[in-house]
Amino acid sequence: MRIVLLGAPGAGKGTQCKNLVAQYGLLHLSSGDILRRHRANGTELGEKAQSYMDSGALVPDEIIIEMMTEEIKQAPDSGFILDGFPRTVNQAVELQKALAGTGRNIDAVLNLKIDDRIVVERLTGRRSCPQCGAVYHIKNLKPKVQGVCDHDGTELVQRSDDSPDVVANRLETYYRQSEPLVEYYKNNGTVFDFDAGRDPDEVKASVFEKLDALVKT
Ligand code: AMP
Repeated sequence: MRIVLLGAPGAGKGTQCKNLVAQYGLLHLSSGDILRRHRANGTELGEKAQSYMDSGALVPDEIIIEMMTEEIKQAPDSGFILDGFPRTVNQAVELQKALAGTGRNIDAVLNLKIDDRIVVERLTGRRSCPQCGAVYHIKNLKPKVQGVCDHDGTELVQRSDDSPDVVANRLETYYRQSEPLVEYYKNNGTVFDFDAGRDPDEVKASVFEKLDALVKT
């Protein structure tokens, strides 16, 4: 199965990806995570992406398209889930071209729909463990000891782009550049819409239901 996950920042794409990886054995390809890895490793690509990411803008298409098509080429036949890519119609067109060259296709697009108010609360309250990647929330998913990871005792951090100003920019960028993708895929594929403002386990159940039906057809 090859899946694209769409949704505003904070819609819960990362959480749903973890579920999909566990249930269907898909490779999780998150453009944001790959970029953050480049930055942590001090690569040239990471340096080029830095200023865009810090302000909540999109990294230029040519950088992202090259980076992600390289990852997709190396993906196993069992399938993958794309999280955060494509984020512009141009990226989607280039993805389609790259897949056509390998005889593969996108089987389903999952669109996580969410209210801006919930996004702002979720993202500005999000904290994560720089050691193991566990994610918490200052109100809704507190660690046992405030500010410290339950798993390894590391001090939790806030992603620099989860500050209120940058979250506002990321949302504006989403509506301007990424939301048109929903229409693009409605005209060029199979899109399933989900209400992502619900409890993540309810969203998970709805997603599994749709994908199980898809696998059977
Ligand atoms: P994310 O973790 O998906 O919210 O991504 C964090 C940041 O990485 C975004 O705000 C963008 O600056 C950059 N980024 C991630 N994916 C893309 C993409 N497909 N196109 C352009 N920029 C991206």
